[in-house]
Amino acid sequence: MSDTLFGKIINREIDADIIYEDDQALAFRDINPQAPTHFLVIPKKAIPKLSDADEGDQILLGYLLLVARRVAAQEGLEDYRLNINNGPGASQTIFHLHLHVLGGRSFSWPPG
Ligand code: 5GP
Repeated sequence: MSDTLFGKIINREIDADIIYEDDQALAFRDINPQAPTHFLVIPKKAIPKLSDADEGDQILLGYLLLVARRVAAQEGLEDYRLNINNGPGASQTIFHLHLHVLGGRSFSWPPG
């Protein structure tokens, strides 16, 4: 577990609108949604950012995508965008790996 804000959400020290949980992962709604549906999928393992993951995390990283898919379906999303910000220059602000899942509106490409 990490000491970050997301680690505190895992530990229930901070409230969040949790919409999925199992022994490896957690999904909860973003407090500042950028789309009608915006939730975050995090591993319970404290990996600060994607570039800190290693070969031993291969199964976990794949599993997070399956959780994103499962929760997106649970939320009634067909089309949605997944985003991972890696590092401050990519707008990462919380250093516990998380996948953003956004849906319920159209998205343009390239992203800003
Ligand atoms: P990042 O910029 O690190 O990729 O994304 C961090 C996300 O966490 C942001 O979208 C932000 O709105 C969200 N966030 C920040 N603080 C909280 C909080 O206390 N609760 C929840 N549910 N989301 C948060």
